[in-house]
Amino acid sequence: MGRKKIIAGNWKMNLLPGEGIALVNQLVQTQVPEGARVVLCPPFIHLGTVGALIHEAPGFYLGAQNCHQEGQGAYTGEVAAKMLRAIGVEYVILGHSERREYFGEDDVLLAKKVDRALQEGLTPIFCCGEALEIRNSGTHVVHVARQLEASLFHLQAADFEKIVIAYEPIWAIGTGQTASPLQAQEMHAAIRTLLVSKYGTQVASNTSILYGGSVGAGNAAELFAQPDVDGGLVGGASLKAGDFAQIITACSAHIA
Ligand code: PEP
Repeated sequence: MGRKKIIAGNWKMNLLPGEGIALVNQLVQTQVPEGARVVLCPPFIHLGTVGALIHEAPGFYLGAQNCHQEGQGAYTGEVAAKMLRAIGVEYVILGHSERREYFGEDDVLLAKKVDRALQEGLTPIFCCGEALEIRNSGTHVVHVARQLEASLFHLQAADFEKIVIAYEPIWAIGTGQTASPLQAQEMHAAIRTLLVSKYGTQVASNTSILYGGSVGAGNAAELFAQPDVDGGLVGGASLKAGDFAQIITACSAHIA
């Protein structure tokens, strides 16, 4: 079995309950073929509702946008991985550049969150990616390699196999300026080569590496046609049922 194709929708801090329900009711009409997964990542308070709506929709999974690194306790305002798992959440986005930038989440904290998520049975969608200055200086591959080393490479292969990686160049997130298919492929191939050296060919070839950064209905097909791009982490376009459905279909076309 090859690696999974995954389209994850990161709603960020958007949509009121009624709007989320309307969106999901349209999305679940999309055919998700075997070998592909659609992961909906709404804000915490919508998780229960969205989970109920996708319960009987084949290929749809529930994801959270964050979790706390501790198991439980006096952490006002936070949500534990165990709580997420208990309500049917299967994935959690960790290391998103907005969490790194606005909430000061660093590599060391993210390593702890990864460990906690895995311990509680959640699959981390681990985000990495470089700022524009780093890309312009030509050190983007080294930068991303360091992020992965610092937060993931303490894992044993058996745990690493559960990780999904999302390469998200910061300059492409929410800007409408997407990486070119070749830029995405270059980084994804570099990540996979790094995984071969760290965990071996089998783990590397089974790891799903998603691209994120202004993926839309118009550019999804050419991005997903790249051999090392296994799907997408989609922000803005995941809020529009028609666009997101087209992105799902574009990804499904590349199931081996
Ligand atoms: C994201 O939030 O991870 C993202 C890639 O956003 P957008 O698709 O809007 O660029």
